[in-house]
Amino acid sequence: MSERSWQVIVIGAGPSGMMAALKAREGGASVLLLEKNPAPGKKLLLTGHGRCNLTNCTIPDTFRERYFENARFLNSSFHTFSPQDVCDYFSSIGVSTHEEDSGRMFPDAQKSRAVLDALLKKLDSEDVEILCDTEVLALSPKEGKEGETFWEVQTGKGTYYGNCVILATGGKAFPQTGSTGTGYQLARSMGHSVTPLIPSLSPLYLSGFDGKSTEAGISSEEGDEILSGLTLEQVRLTLLVSEKTVAKTEGGLLFTHQGISGPSAMRLSRYLPEGKEKSLYEDGKVRVQVHFLPELREETVEEKLLGAMTSEPNRAMRNILHSLFPLPERLIGQVLFKAGGDLPANQVTKMVRKKIVSGLCATTYTVSHPAPWEIAYVTRGGVNIKEVDPKTMQSKLAPKILFCGEILDIDGDSGGYNLQHAWASGFVAGQTASTLSMMPQKMINAQNAL
Ligand SMILES: Cc1cc2nc3c(=O)[nH]c(=O)nc-3n(C[C@H](O)[C@H](O)[C@H](O)COP(=O)(O)OP(=O)(O)OC[C@H]3O[C@@H](n4cnc5c(N)ncnc54)[C@H](O)[C@@H]3O)c2cc1C
Repeated sequence: MSERSWQVIVIGAGPSGMMAALKAREGGASVLLLEKNPAPGKKLLLTGHGRCNLTNCTIPDTFRERYFENARFLNSSFHTFSPQDVCDYFSSIGVSTHEEDSGRMFPDAQKSRAVLDALLKKLDSEDVEILCDTEVLALSPKEGKEGETFWEVQTGKGTYYGNCVILATGGKAFPQTGSTGTGYQLARSMGHSVTPLIPSLSPLYLSGFDGKSTEAGISSEEGDEILSGLTLEQVRLTLLVSEKTVAKTEGGLLFTHQGISGPSAMRLSRYLPEGKEKSLYEDGKVRVQVHFLPELREETVEEKLLGAMTSEPNRAMRNILHSLFPLPERLIGQVLFKAGGDLPANQVTKMVRKKIVSGLCATTYTVSHPAPWEIAYVTRGGVNIKEVDPKTMQSKLAPKILFCGEILDIDGDSGGYNLQHAWASGFVAGQTASTLSMMPQKMINAQNAL
């Protein structure tokens, strides 16, 4: 091999790539880290609103619900590098951490910069070579004198050779940070499949929040955007696609001038149909139902309402709703407005009462379109995890190719879950690559044959 050859080449200097490079180097391998941006860790700097929620110490208890259907893939890497190990590791490189609500861990310095600087210092002290402004364009396998496979890595700036290559190019979300999805093309070129990609942890854009369209069947002169800025601590959201329930989430909600955001809405976004299923959106078949009183069944809400209306027939419905339910005034006003029930109780018909109950328990909005990638925090979908060994992060299809981080078909909830996956998978991929890159070819062949 030429002098531009390394035992391990890592593509992408995000959290997973930096961790992989450090672990590979620690194992004794020579390591080259390639990054297309002018500097590493651009997205890492934005995490946790600039404070970096670097892991979550409620894992493994919250594990299954927070990583959804692919959680099992993480068992092994989280066992190897748990949230506690992440905190210990950062402490060892000078970043102490503390716990905030819901197990979220942050650096004591309250700055992502502190996390990035510590990683860069460590990379420097370990002699990991980092080449920035260097985008990887293609990968091709080559055969050495003894029949061993190595990889030719073509970049805009030249060609490099590596015994092992780790793909840590991130997903497609927030492409302004460098993760534009080019890693998927590299993975495909090696025979990997990529599951459908959905912008996730994003707000939901709703019709009726632009002051133009209104809820079907309800005459409204005011658009729902008058709710903009309102926050609710706990709601239940149900996503309906062509009238079928696709997912339910609970949590806080924020009305924005374009729709809804907050934990419950962000969590639901991963279940939206792909953007290319345009007609579903155009035909109004993607809808979200909001239950503003999730702890109460609809029948209970109706019973309570009927009881209060009967005992105080002259009281304004607005005041009745206020005394019964802890909801913001603006929301109650909008529910009554839409139901045509902003009247004294004795003037409210059964039909209007039912509409009020439905407004409280099942207000339905139409999702106008999926969020653009530019505002989604993570990518749902990615390199098919069936084609990757979860114990080693090795490709099952291409020799001495490994994956880590968001490029894989793994997405977590907000709360430090995505960085935990980036650190843990990077740790394992780096460890494996260093061993693999130094192993004689005969041993690799024997292992592969097992
Ligand atoms: C605004 C925001 C806030 C977030 N906050 C949190 C949080 O607080 N906690 C949490 O757990 N998660 C958070 N996340 C998610 C988390 O940041 C990501 O899941 C994580 O950064 C993924 O790490 P990664 O290393 O896989 O990819 P990335 O961080 O995306 O890094 C990939 C790197 O690869 C480079 N690259 C891509 N293609 C090439 C190529 N062909 N050649 C060379 N280089 C290439 C990119 O430029 C990039 O630097 C947040 C995300 C966003 C957008």
